Amino acid sequence: ELIEREIEEVLGLRERREKDSELYKIANEVFDRTTKESLAHLHKRGKIGELRGVISTGKEANVFAGVDGEGRRIAVKVYRTYTTEFRRIWEYLAADPRIGYLPKDMRKLVFVWTRREFKNLQRAMKYAVRVPEPMAFRNNVLVMEFIGDETPAPRLKDVERELELGDFEELYDFTMGVIERLWRRGDMVHGDLSEYNLLLHDGPVVIDWSQATVRRNRMSLELLRRDLRNVIAYFGKKGVSVDNPDEKFRELVG
Ligand code: ATP
Ligand code: MN
Repeated sequence: ELIEREIEEVLGLRERREKDSELYKIANEVFDRTTKESLAHLHKRGKIGELRGVISTGKEANVFAGVDGEGRRIAVKVYRTYTTEFRRIWEYLAADPRIGYLPKDMRKLVFVWTRREFKNLQRAMKYAVRVPEPMAFRNNVLVMEFIGDETPAPRLKDVERELELGDFEELYDFTMGVIERLWRRGDMVHGDLSEYNLLLHDGPVVIDWSQATVRRNRMSLELLRRDLRNVIAYFGKKGVSVDNPDEKFRELVG
């Protein structure tokens, strides 16, 4: 029927794509009715032209590489509507003062989670943090700028062996700058800043904003402390002369 046709186009099944490709396999596994409807909706509006490959498969979401209706590269993050992370997602959202109504239904809760990541990306951009530009969202599907060239940009973790002390020092300053700017100017905290959520593409790009929140959140201090500890511990191990996390925390919180 109609949605199935749209999905075939999104998956490029009409042309070259083979039905045993990784993309097809993942799609078959995780695209439930809601996901298909959301992809079809975004396809009709030209936000998604075609998905072309799988960038990452996680327990919460899968990220695909693709193009929009005009052939521009995009990354598409598709949250699972069924997730074992329900409890954690619920707790994070319940603490966020921006979220008014909290659905009891897991599927709808994931929609709220997706929309919040979109809003977080917009907000971070406003405070001059380099992130994938958010382009559209629908239910559990988020469309954003693709970071990379032919292939997706590597994460800091993927290339750490090739880096020198000077690179780590620069990246450390950058990352601490992000934490400070977000907190001081944006009243915001990322909450999962690490070598896994920094892509390197002519300089670092911060990804994965699903757990980011605002300062008014009662969990924000805990998240800020966690970001400082993780980032400082990582770069400390790489030989950078780092700040003291507790001092930095006090300095920021005041
Ligand atoms: P995980 O649980 O594996 O960390 P996640 O659900 O936290 O996944 P993200 O961290 O947002 O999701 O994305 C997973 C991976 O997909 C990233 O590590 C990165 O390699 C890739 N990725 C995410 N967004 C983009 C993007 N805009 N451009 C290119 N690659 C991306
Ligand atoms: Mn991640």
